Amino acid sequence: MAPRARDPSPGGRVFRSGGEVSPRRWGHVAERLADEHTVICPDLRGYGASDKPAATDPGVYAKRAMAADIVTLAAALGHERFALVGHDRGALVAFRAGLDHPETITHLGILDVVPTLDMGKVRRQRLDHAHKTALGLVRDHDLIAHEDLRIRNMLRSPAPKPNPEQPGSLLPNGAAAKAGLNRSLSDAGWGVFLTILHAKAESAGRDVIAVDPRNTSRTCPECGHAAAENRPTQEKFHCVGCGHQAHADIVGASNVLRAGPARRQAQPA
Ligand SMILES: [Zn+2]
Repeated sequence: MAPRARDPSPGGRVFRSGGEVSPRRWGHVAERLADEHTVICPDLRGYGASDKPAATDPGVYAKRAMAADIVTLAAALGHERFALVGHDRGALVAFRAGLDHPETITHLGILDVVPTLDMGKVRRQRLDHAHKTALGLVRDHDLIAHEDLRIRNMLRSPAPKPNPEQPGSLLPNGAAAKAGLNRSLSDAGWGVFLTILHAKAESAGRDVIAVDPRNTSRTCPECGHAAAENRPTQEKFHCVGCGHQAHADIVGASNVLRAGPARRQAQPA
């Protein structure tokens, strides 16, 4: 995309793009930005219409070199300071540009990319937290019951539909698909935690029991009445049979706990 003539802002604005898919995905965003800013959408070196220099050494295609390209290009077009938005691999390059050229980059937008350094840190923190929590549970309790994730996965409603034209993206599939996706992500964390929990419990001689999650969140712990109507909202449990009220999570947990010993008696080890 060519640079725009209109530029009421003090700095220009460079809109970085990643691979070929970007003009289609981000082109309309660039158009909107161009109403108020100069927008420059260069391809990274080696991509699209940009130069493809021979990779004489690994530095030729390093993010640092690509970041320098953007700063050089913007300066050549008269923008000594500018905002930078990067998408996908372009986001990693934009991040590098922000580190290498802090005087030049006034604002930084990072889109559609996993911050790899942070992810490592977060994952370590989560694992550490999972170990501590599992250790505490195993130390303090002889019996631990939890929802059986395999059954919950089987019950899961609409899987997100992959978009065949754009690998990695999803077709619109209503809120349910998003909920399914979010739940599968949180289940991944649960799966890791449960693996750690089971290992610690085994070495400590404790029982960990997976309970069928069906109806645990809508069965009344007081009178046993099971109905979807017992859950007027996500948080609230209000039994239509006996009027018992409680937080839905507490009800679910107590039902799982109660089902645990029953299941243990039914399936002697
Ligand atoms: Zn009840």
